[in-house]
Amino acid sequence: MAISKTTIHAIPATDEVEEPNILIVGATMSPLVKAGGLADVMRSLPLSLKKHGMRVQSILPHYSLISKKIKFKKIGTFNVKFNKKNNRCTLWKLKNWDTDVYTIEHNTYFGGEEIYPTDDDPKTGLKKELIRFLFFNVAVIEAIKKLPEPPSLIHVNDWHSALVPLLEKKMGLGIPTLLTIHNLGYQGVFYARNVERLLGYTIGDGVSTNFLKSGIEHADYINTVSPTYAHEILTEEYGEGLENDLLKRKNNLYGILNGIDVDRFNPAKDPSLKKRYSAQKVNDGKTKNKKALQKQLGLVVADDVPIIGMVTRLFSQKGLDILTRALPHVIESGMQLIVLGTGEKEYEDALNKFASNHPRNVAVLIEFNAALANQIYASSDFFLMPSKYEPCGLGQMISMRYGTIPIVRKTGGLKDTVTDVREQNGTGIVFEEYSARALEEAIERAINLFNNKNQFEDTRENVLEKDVSWELSAKKYKELYETILTQV
Ligand code: ADP
Repeated sequence: MAISKTTIHAIPATDEVEEPNILIVGATMSPLVKAGGLADVMRSLPLSLKKHGMRVQSILPHYSLISKKIKFKKIGTFNVKFNKKNNRCTLWKLKNWDTDVYTIEHNTYFGGEEIYPTDDDPKTGLKKELIRFLFFNVAVIEAIKKLPEPPSLIHVNDWHSALVPLLEKKMGLGIPTLLTIHNLGYQGVFYARNVERLLGYTIGDGVSTNFLKSGIEHADYINTVSPTYAHEILTEEYGEGLENDLLKRKNNLYGILNGIDVDRFNPAKDPSLKKRYSAQKVNDGKTKNKKALQKQLGLVVADDVPIIGMVTRLFSQKGLDILTRALPHVIESGMQLIVLGTGEKEYEDALNKFASNHPRNVAVLIEFNAALANQIYASSDFFLMPSKYEPCGLGQMISMRYGTIPIVRKTGGLKDTVTDVREQNGTGIVFEEYSARALEEAIERAINLFNNKNQFEDTRENVLEKDVSWELSAKKYKELYETILTQV
């Protein structure tokens, strides 16, 4: 089926709506809790919307793993009927903060050391992740009644809050909803009978309950985090089995690119760098950081050896299978490789083994470390994202902010944010086929670019000039909110 580009891209013009109040709901938010890009968006989108004059509030679980150093103010308590009990929750508000952030605390459901637990709850035998996020969805509905300013629109994000549109309808709150899909690969699928057991009522008619699918069906509008991904998810290749559900909603489906918080990711102010640098001093600044990081990680210290950096979850989505096959080529080509990430053991082991065989040219760090991530963004010559699919991707944008040239596969948001150096004002190396061979060729092209000093420095300039901020996209969200508020 042919999808017209305009259906997804163009947001219809609407009459101005007076000061809507948006409630953004999600599982994580920087700097409170972060597992990936969602946390960055949950932090930077509200901030940018606020700068555009919007009233925004956000809400997330009050995990016990949130640092006790962060101060909150108690707003009130409320009860949530769940698992045949009345569950007492506390609504908190983040203190001394530049946006309105609320958290829902419950002493058992948001406990533990993980955001996304993978094990079962010993008491009920149910998946902890189901209990946690089902509870969160129900609790959000109750929390809305307690918020000092009632929202005029609820904007939910990913499967962790995707039942809110259905529950909102069921409760008859009359508030329009938007679902943003940050990654279709994670849907939250559980046995319907377990969902019913916890909720005390049925919400579907199948054997399983799919949180994201429910959101796709019930949210008034849907968007994804890049125009290309918005098209891709309507196909069998990228639709993760939900392509037909999405096709049914394609008239209400948009693609809006994420941005990054350019104040937080700023090489001129970044406290984690050995040497801070502005765009004017990029070559000198990057060289100093590069040498410092090479030394720190035990690599050969040499400015004329290019570094490929990666900061990523180590999963096949991120292209780890083609990367592990192309690893020998990285070394043969004379590059150094620095990988920071956590994920599947198979990939962690393969990378660790490779690093121990090439300790002077490969460094692999299996941890989540924001400061080290920024040092890698600043010190690398190239930043690699060979993703199988990539809804938007923040890594390539952060790298560009630090003057680091991305090497990306032409998919989703990577396609929308990086232009190949063969084109005018190119910002990176873009390869198309998902194969180790195509990745090796891309690495070859990166080496050639590095050896052509003029072209390399021109590309670095293009990269630094690329607008990766929220400016444009916040305006698009504002327009989309206005559309929803006038049309629903
Ligand atoms: P995704 O959300 O799919 O993981 P994105 O590229 O959208 O991928 O966002 C990833 C974010 O998480 C980036 O800000 C990246 O720097 C950060 N990140 C990923 N892994 C790590 C890690 N091991 N340590 C520090 N930051 C990380």
